[in-house]
Amino acid sequence: MRVSAIGCGHLGIPHAAAMAEIGHEVIGVDLDQPKIDRLNAGECPIYEEGLPELLATHTATGRLRFTTNLAEAADFADIHFLAVGTPIDADGRSYDTGQVFGAARALAPHLTRPCVIIGKSTVTVGTTRDLTTLLARLAPAGTDVEVVWNPEFLREGHAIEDTLRPDRIVAGVPSPHAEDVVRQVYAPLLHNQIPLFVTDPATAELIKGAANAYLGMKISFINGVADMCAAAGADVHQLTEAIGLDPRIGRGGLNAGPGYGGGCLPKDVRAFTASAQSLGALDAAALLRAAEQVNESRATAALALIEQTLGRPVAGARVTVWGASFKAGTDDVRESPALAVAALMHQRGATVTVHNPHAVPTALVRHPELDYAEDLEESVKGTELIVLATEWPQFRDANPKALSTLVEQPVLVDLRNLLNADTWRTAGWTVRQLGRPAQP
Ligand code: NAD
Repeated sequence: MRVSAIGCGHLGIPHAAAMAEIGHEVIGVDLDQPKIDRLNAGECPIYEEGLPELLATHTATGRLRFTTNLAEAADFADIHFLAVGTPIDADGRSYDTGQVFGAARALAPHLTRPCVIIGKSTVTVGTTRDLTTLLARLAPAGTDVEVVWNPEFLREGHAIEDTLRPDRIVAGVPSPHAEDVVRQVYAPLLHNQIPLFVTDPATAELIKGAANAYLGMKISFINGVADMCAAAGADVHQLTEAIGLDPRIGRGGLNAGPGYGGGCLPKDVRAFTASAQSLGALDAAALLRAAEQVNESRATAALALIEQTLGRPVAGARVTVWGASFKAGTDDVRESPALAVAALMHQRGATVTVHNPHAVPTALVRHPELDYAEDLEESVKGTELIVLATEWPQFRDANPKALSTLVEQPVLVDLRNLLNADTWRTAGWTVRQLGRPAQP
């Protein structure tokens, strides 16, 4: 099939590459000309495992190409995936769906035949309905446009795997014909037993919001319980393992840490809270707001643990933060908890050096006030304390004995409970882990 992917970001590029991988002819569209030039040259503008190889393979065969020209995409494709951004609105709570409606407005006049638009971006409930009305007004006569909502659940750092082998595909369809198109475009995945959940568009839009709101609540819950463990001298890691064995709770996504971040969870929890409020679901809104409040307090909670470990306020201290991306496996630093902790320590007068595989250039744009080190060893030279804030395997595999010769004092706070603390303690380090006793 001939498909377009409109919006080439963290979602759109992996989606375009995955659609080519399952046999479609794909054209990716973005407004950003330099990004399109890099993509057409087979270069990958984001860090994502496995993506450069897929891009290189499919741009070389010509099955995948990129353009800034929506007229070309309208002429080429019968299915248009919408993968543009939906950042948080100026009010800080609801989605700004300007890119979604802007892309539809720009595409409509170029349509020459009936097509299906498959929205993948995360949107407010009611967006499919409003988009359908807009397109009915703007599309030329004889070019019926059906709009499906097919929310995306991929995790950055696992984008290719999650696109080619998702847990489920959700499609909110307006008609049996639209459902048929969804079944055809995803046929290779459906043959691999990936479940397709077909519903109406409003339910599909809410499924995405509810899934991320629930994940945010789960993380805030365990972070709140980590505070209880710290106060009681108990161990949140063991507690998590034990409660996670109950299938009604589940172990996945239940890791205490410096809070949730990234381009999705924080805004999705905020926007779902606002939706709950505007739909009059006040209990749901109160529950979600509490999850947000817990998340917003995490940098301060991390600072308290850091200062307790250091034995004094961080003002004047030389501190190293391992981690800038919001999680491992990506260079995305949007709403990164690691950078929130680093920035807070800087504000309090510490000299902060940040090290992160792959994300230093993106972090530098957002936090030019911090120092950066490209190299792990370089980052710890003369430091008084290391804060491990993102769960990169490179940090787990670091050599404590070798590093202890580089630091001013061997002290580390592990906000991800990533390290084998015994190994580090044996190598002479003082290690504190979040929600766990100072000494086991
Ligand atoms: P992004 O900001 O990385 O990418 C959006 C892209 O859309 C940008 O490259 C921008 O230039 C482009 N764009 C904007 N208007 C356009 C237009 N009119 N025509 C063509 N291109 C246009 O955003 P993202 O992280 O890829 O997220 C996209 C959507 O997917 C959001 O709604 C997000 O919530 C959702 N989502 C993201 C993820 C993720 O892991 N990043 C996961 C699931 C869902």
